[in-house]
Amino acid sequence: MAAKRPLVAGNWKMNGLGAALSELRALRERLAQDPPVPEIMVCPPATLLTRAHDLLAGSTILLGAQDCHPLPAGPHTGDLSAEMLADSGAGAVIVGHSERRQDHGETDAVVNAKARAAFRAGLTAIICIGETEQERRAGTTLEIVRRQLEGSLPQDARAANVVIAYEPVWAIGTGLTPTQADVAAAHRFIRGELGRLLGKEESRDLRILYGGSVKPANAAELLSVPDVDGALVGGASLKASDFFAILSAYSRRGAG
Ligand code: PEP
Repeated sequence: MAAKRPLVAGNWKMNGLGAALSELRALRERLAQDPPVPEIMVCPPATLLTRAHDLLAGSTILLGAQDCHPLPAGPHTGDLSAEMLADSGAGAVIVGHSERRQDHGETDAVVNAKARAAFRAGLTAIICIGETEQERRAGTTLEIVRRQLEGSLPQDARAANVVIAYEPVWAIGTGLTPTQADVAAAHRFIRGELGRLLGKEESRDLRILYGGSVKPANAAELLSVPDVDGALVGGASLKASDFFAILSAYSRRGAG
C-alpha cells in the first residue's frame, strides 16, 4: 500500500456558534491556494455539522464529530447516534476523549462500544488514550496506555477504520507538552501494542496522532517524532490562521 498520509484533526470541543463557520471558510480558501501535505479534518460541535458539511462540499477537508452513543436509536435524551452523525455529514467521530472519560465517567468498555457504533455507521473512530499527570508521576504511563488500548480497541479495528490519538491528559489545554523522547517512546509502545492486538501490517498502516497543546510554535518539533502520524489539535484549531500554521509544519520539513 502507498505510504500512509498523516492526519491533522481539529477538535473544536464545546466551542463555536454559527459565526465560527467563517473560520472554516477561511481555512478552506487557504487550503485551496496551498494544498496541504496531510489529510485535514475538522470536528465542530454537532450543532454545526450539517452547515459545515455544506460549506466543505467540494473541498478536501474531512468532517468529524466529537462523540456518539453506542446504540443506533432509542430513548436516550440528548444523545446522538453514530448513524445520526453520518447522516449529518460526518465521516469520523472522536471517542474516548479524556474530557468525556472524566466528565461522563466513560470506561474503556463504553469507548469500545462507541468505536463499534462508529464502524456500524461507516465512520472512522478516532480513539483517544493517554495518562493523567498522577499516572505519569507514578511511572505508569505505558501500563495505562496498554490497558486503555486493550479495552477501547474493538477486535475488528483496522487501519482503514481507526485512528489512535495519544493525548497525555496533563498536556491537554495546559500549554505543557512531553519531550520528543517521551512522545517517541509512547508512540513506539502503542505501535507495538497495536501489532500484538491487530497484527503487524495493520499496526504499520494505522495512524497514531499526538494530541495535547499542539501549537504553531511546537508543531514542527512534535510532528517530526518517529511514529507520530499527525495531530489532534484542540484550542489551536479554532482559528484558521493557527490551524493552517500547524499544517504548514509538514511542508516546512517536506514530509509526506
Ligand atoms: C484535545 O482536546 O484533543 C487537545 C489536544 O486540546 P489542546 O490542543 O487544546 O491541548
